Amino acid sequence: IKKTVSVLGLGRMGTALANALVEEGYDVTVWNRSDRPAPPNTKRVATTEEAFEADVVVTCLSTYDVQEPLLGKNIKTLVNLTSGTPEQARATARWAQANGVDYVDGVIMAVPQQIGTPQAQILYSGQQEHHVLQAFGEPVYLGEDAGMAALYDLALLGIMWPVFGGYLQAVALLGTEGVTPRQFTPMAVGFLNAMVALLPEMGEEVQRREYETDVSAVDINVAGLRMLADAAAQQGIDTALAETLHDLFRRAQEKGHGAHSIASVVEVIR
Ligand code: NDP
Repeated sequence: IKKTVSVLGLGRMGTALANALVEEGYDVTVWNRSDRPAPPNTKRVATTEEAFEADVVVTCLSTYDVQEPLLGKNIKTLVNLTSGTPEQARATARWAQANGVDYVDGVIMAVPQQIGTPQAQILYSGQQEHHVLQAFGEPVYLGEDAGMAALYDLALLGIMWPVFGGYLQAVALLGTEGVTPRQFTPMAVGFLNAMVALLPEMGEEVQRREYETDVSAVDINVAGLRMLADAAAQQGIDTALAETLHDLFRRAQEKGHGAHSIASVVEVIR
């Protein structure tokens, strides 16, 4: 017999989670603060207390600040899929331990439309209980420290945001001369794919802390970033992203990494 599961939060993601659980044959109860329609074949309850009667409570609310006052000591197993910092996750794990609540902390590396497919990676840490997570996608366990899932989440998103920011900067820069995103994007995708292929080598350099290079040195990249920031200013677009990266690389140069590879910038960051 499949366990009963409650979902707290019927936002974009919570609704997708509830649907995936129904799809997997779970007996699903849902709770939401405001009056949103319950997904088909779920039972809507008016109070969180009723939702806590399920074997597993899945939470997917906007933030921990919103979530914290809603949690109750009579939850049996809490699968927390609300995004937060590692410290917030650890604090919730301590609260769970103090109250005899089993605790799994997960993060969803996917958009709602991907939930229930193998493309949806669900990173999780804390207790190793993933039968419910399997309904959402591909669970990946990261160990007992409940904060690890949140740390991986932010590390990965921290790659995504600068990449998207850089793409939008490129689109804005070319847009000043009438080039459209539609014209430019295929070129951006091809270039990015080539750049992504360089990551394993960069990772090796960081791992070994060896930054000798015959590829591209920090000096030449500082000069290039200066040109990008100047060009952005001259073309009349925002310069914040270019200036921030210029500043970061320049500090690596000042630290004596001018002749070293781009990987050496990590010495400034850490
Ligand atoms: P939505 O904004 O669509 O939904 C937010 C949910 O939080 C709603 O159920 C909302 O209830 C509830 N909520 C907000 N404030 C309160 C409050 N004060 N008291 C009670 N409930 C409240 O967000 P998403 O579903 O997109 O995101 C939910 C979580 O999932 C976030 O932590 C997000 O980072 C994470 N996530 C989302 C992804 C996505 O692509 N959408 C991807 C990966 C993770 P109400 O309907 O009453 O406003």
